[in-house]
Amino acid sequence: MDSVGVAAAAPDAGPGPAWQSKCPWGTPSTTSISCSLADVMSEQLAKELQLEEENAAFPEVVATAEGPFITGENIDTSSDLMLAQMLQMEFDREYDAQLRREEKKINGDSKVSISFENYRKVHPYDSDSSEDEVDWQDTRHDPYRADKPTTTPRRGFIGKGKDITTKHDEVVCGRKNTARMENFAPEFQVGDGIGMDLKLSNQVFNALKQHAYSEERRSARLHEKKEHSTAEKAVDPKTRLLLYKMVNSGMLETITGCISTGKESVVFHAYGGNATEDKVIPPECAIKVFKTTLNEFKNRDKYIKDDYRFKDRFSKLNPRKIIRMWAEKEMHNLTRMQNAGIPCPQVVILKKHVLVMSFIGQDQVPAPKLKDVTLSSEDMKKAYYQILNMMQQLYRECNLVHADLSEYNMLWHDGKVWLIDVSQSVEPTHPHGLEFLFRDCRNVSQIEALEKMNEDHVQNHGKKLSTFSSDGDPPIYDE
Ligand code: ADP
Ligand code: MG
Repeated sequence: MDSVGVAAAAPDAGPGPAWQSKCPWGTPSTTSISCSLADVMSEQLAKELQLEEENAAFPEVVATAEGPFITGENIDTSSDLMLAQMLQMEFDREYDAQLRREEKKINGDSKVSISFENYRKVHPYDSDSSEDEVDWQDTRHDPYRADKPTTTPRRGFIGKGKDITTKHDEVVCGRKNTARMENFAPEFQVGDGIGMDLKLSNQVFNALKQHAYSEERRSARLHEKKEHSTAEKAVDPKTRLLLYKMVNSGMLETITGCISTGKESVVFHAYGGNATEDKVIPPECAIKVFKTTLNEFKNRDKYIKDDYRFKDRFSKLNPRKIIRMWAEKEMHNLTRMQNAGIPCPQVVILKKHVLVMSFIGQDQVPAPKLKDVTLSSEDMKKAYYQILNMMQQLYRECNLVHADLSEYNMLWHDGKVWLIDVSQSVEPTHPHGLEFLFRDCRNVSQIEALEKMNEDHVQNHGKKLSTFSSDGDPPIYDE
């Protein structure tokens, strides 16, 4: 409600109330502000409500339908920051391109070239930039050890006449260089070299200084990375930009909220947008954002390091890029499964560490995990045999082992089981492939009741399961 509207709509207030004529400040010149207390109250209430809504909408992407990604008549100004960032990003790109052109023009064919590298804008979104290059290991070591502290001469010269030693003297200079190590960034470990009577030649000192400087920058980058990494619930600014772009391009209509926050990923629900020439967007999508905090993924190295498909690339990549590989792996695996007709989400698009796929569920309600669903014994049986068949298909047709097959990664939807979460799935030739397969089989056989059935079977017949029929019928047991 706006105040002009209130003033215009206010009924004729008539003569002012008694207190106005007695007021020592005189009568106010206009009487147009005459809305009732109720109006003022409701206006405030409206403002408060709007503020509340705005606050709720952006900090956590996990919002109601009034999320930050809504297009159309969205008066939520929290998106302005995002828009500004996107504009800035475009501007930076243009600026960099211009710099590159100028650099090329100046350098021409000359053997000596000037680099404008330091003048480039490195926008955080542009994660292919050098900002991403993180060393795996810090191999720095400190070769200096202190014995006992001594002071260094600070004067320009010592002695008199013939015995004068100037500041250019090698020893004095060396000591001075050692003392100057104190000026290095605090996090740069210089050991106790400063305290020793250590003489650093100019050459060594300059090399150290250079190293300290690059270390300082590296640490700043790492710090920044920490701040930008995906937080517990919300997503980091880079990811938010990615998501925003998906909405902006019309591929997604709205991102409605968060379905799940796991250790390695955050999954959102979204309504699909417009189809493109080569892509049909499902009406409802699930967006799996692989977390860019690195720790969790380090534990899972073995799933990707030994996967020959990714092996070559693995060793050369920095952690952020490895996380993108997880997303890529999930995409490839889902595609294989899709081709084999295994019920699983259909891949829509992969952008860096964000994978968009079809949503298993309806009206924003995700299909329940097998763990949470209560099935009739009939359905339970059906589910069990379906899973056995899917495992077989996965192995034979997709050349894959799920490697994390459990009641947490199977959804019950439309009267059947859907497999999800295949980023860690490997080919059977993977060094641990069969080990993972065995674990999957054990997990599946532990699914209640059916486990019992298996046990009974083994006890009564002592026969082992060897062949599955392909149409979901109970397995055939060999003599
Ligand atoms: P994580 O690696 O974090 O376990 P998952 O792929 O298992 O990631 O997804 C986490 C949860 O998100 C799942 O348990 C499921 O409830 C939900 N989910 C994931 N993908 C989909 C999807 N395509 N449709 C519906 N819900 C999904
Ligand atoms: Mg999972």
